[in-house]
Amino acid sequence: MSLTRPMISRDSQFFWDGTALGELRLQSCNACDSLRFPPGPACPDCGALDRGHVVASGRGTVFSYVVHRHPPVPGKELPIVLVLVELDEGLRMLGELVDVDADDIEAGAVEIGMPVQVDFNRVDDDLTLPIWRRA
Ligand code: ZN
Repeated sequence: MSLTRPMISRDSQFFWDGTALGELRLQSCNACDSLRFPPGPACPDCGALDRGHVVASGRGTVFSYVVHRHPPVPGKELPIVLVLVELDEGLRMLGELVDVDADDIEAGAVEIGMPVQVDFNRVDDDLTLPIWRRA
């Protein structure tokens, strides 16, 4: 299947290595311990380049969401639900909410503040995407 592939760069390689292992990794600053997402070369808080990562709990809540009906997404049957998840660690991450029938959304199946749990969708040997399920 042809799926829109994320950019995997030197800065984000650790993130994708993590998803392949079933870990949701967050970049951390070795100088001031702050966490950041998306990954980048320098700490936005203190500017340090010395970076590491922590494994997130994988739990969060729905901060906002959108039902994507159009335009078409390669390899996807629409509609899909995209959620901006506020992680327990305080960072926000966009992803697909699965196991929700789009028709149920009108009936309130997705709510702001709803707890969600990360899961992993192994696309192929090189790509495993984090996805979200209702907790
Ligand atoms: Zn820092």
